[in-house]
This record gives sequence, C-alpha cells and structure tokens, in this order.
Amino acid sequence: MRKKTILIIDDEEQFGRLLKLNLEATTEYAGVVATTGEEGLRLIQAHKPDLVLLDIMLPGSNGLDILKQIKTMAPEVPVAMVTGVWNEQEAKKAFAAGAFEYITKPVHLEYLKTALLVKLL
Ligand SMILES: [Mg+2]
Repeated sequence: MRKKTILIIDDEEQFGRLLKLNLEATTEYAGVVATTGEEGLRLIQAHKPDLVLLDIMLPGSNGLDILKQIKTMAPEVPVAMVTGVWNEQEAKKAFAAGAFEYITKPVHLEYLKTALLVKLL
C-alpha cells in the first residue's frame, strides 16, 4: 500500500526539512516539502498528498490565499495551518476557509502526530 503523503509548505527550509525527517523517522508517512505556496500547489497536482501542513507567512501569496486555492483545486485534501504567530483573526479566517487545525510553532510533535493520525485514519 502506498504510504500516506504529507505536503509541508513552509518558506523556512530548515523547518520543513526537519519536520519531514522527523515524520518519516517516527511515523508511516512520507513527507514532501515546498518553500512557496505556488510550488505547493504544483506539488498537490503532482503528488496528490493525503494532507497538507501550510505556513501562513510565505513569500508571494500568503497561506490563507493558498488555502483557498487548495480548497478549490482539491477540496478533499485536509489542510492544517502551521504558523509562527497565534493570530485570532487569521485563525478564524483559516477555519472559515476549511482548515481543520491551526497550530503555532514551535510545533508540539506528539500533538501534531495525533492530529494527523486522527485525520488520516
Ligand atoms: Mg513562513
């Protein structure tokens, strides 16, 4: 069976790479990393990921715009926002646009993995 794939969209390359390595080392998921929203949208078409972890502060289109595009392009793919700063207005917008989670960095890995596990059953 194909491994479930998590697409991480984050402009902090180091963060994305470490999260991918950590998920691959401790779960059954495969990780794919994009550093811009536009690249992330291309990878969604290329890899058909099972779930997306999406940063909000990105160069070019911000994460909330990318979220809306993902929900238009691939409405079945669950999206969790993973962002540096808690912002109530942004969180409300993210949930209203269909995000299932809004997680702030530093990411609590056990919490994240539990959220993924429940969503990817
Ligand atoms: Mg960022």
